[in-house]
Amino acid sequence: MASIIFAAQNRRTFVRTGALATAAIASGAAFSADGAENTPEGYRLAILSDTHTPADRNNEYRGFKPWNNLKRAVPDIVASGPEGALINGDAARLTGEIQDYQELKQLLGPLAGQCPVYIGLGNHDHRQNFNQVMQPETKYIADVSNKHVLVIEHPVVRILQLDSLLYVDKVAGLLGKAQRAWLDTFLKEAEPRPTVIFVHHTLGDGDGDLLDSERMFGILKPYPQVKAVFYGHSHRYEYGFREGKHLVNLPAIGYNFNDNQPVGWVDAHFSIGGVHLTLKAIGGNLEKNDQITKLHWG
Ligand SMILES: [Zn+2]
Repeated sequence: MASIIFAAQNRRTFVRTGALATAAIASGAAFSADGAENTPEGYRLAILSDTHTPADRNNEYRGFKPWNNLKRAVPDIVASGPEGALINGDAARLTGEIQDYQELKQLLGPLAGQCPVYIGLGNHDHRQNFNQVMQPETKYIADVSNKHVLVIEHPVVRILQLDSLLYVDKVAGLLGKAQRAWLDTFLKEAEPRPTVIFVHHTLGDGDGDLLDSERMFGILKPYPQVKAVFYGHSHRYEYGFREGKHLVNLPAIGYNFNDNQPVGWVDAHFSIGGVHLTLKAIGGNLEKNDQITKLHWG
């Protein structure tokens, strides 16, 4: 994943995060998952996946216009007052064109003016084009060669955005040996505190899934501080549990693959003890709009 964008805004957020760190240390064990929505010690993150932003603003798929969807969602996301926003891959329409990212950057402008926007890479992204347009800030980027891995440290949660982009515009994904080794070493050496993983690809054993998902879970399993794995790719909104970790399959905001699925984003309130996730559906199946799912990890 990558981050964006405007340094002045990130600086302001950084200062604010610093103040939060102090508050978190001062109040110690006072956190509870149930207080996630109202405690100032929480971390509000707007989570998006599969924006599929096209260069052509009128591009349409299954009756959805991904450009319009993001355009519509950004004011709502800004109004929700997040401290950060994250796009979990497939930021670009299909092949990660320069013009796709230029449109994305423009659409995200009002949001990036308020908080850092972190962007991970999926199978419809193009690493070089992404970097050229977005120019992600290096302070979030881990040292993993040819992969865009982000580490976001917040007093209540640590976020690791992994990079599963293997081949542009082909379905399968892979972390690869270097990234897996980095992940293992990072978890071994970092101060153990609640950590959540973001990765674009689905975690099954199919040919279009994350091809080394078994090995990834093998790495994560011994670390109880890893609480959840968020992923996208399937354009489905679902929850699960595996190897002691919560699983969150994020809805797409660009379009769904099935009429029974919502299109939208997720308003996340993290606390030390868990996360409350509110679905913000803007299209597709709206039945679960505003539904809150609470994950506890104490
Ligand atoms: Zn997608």
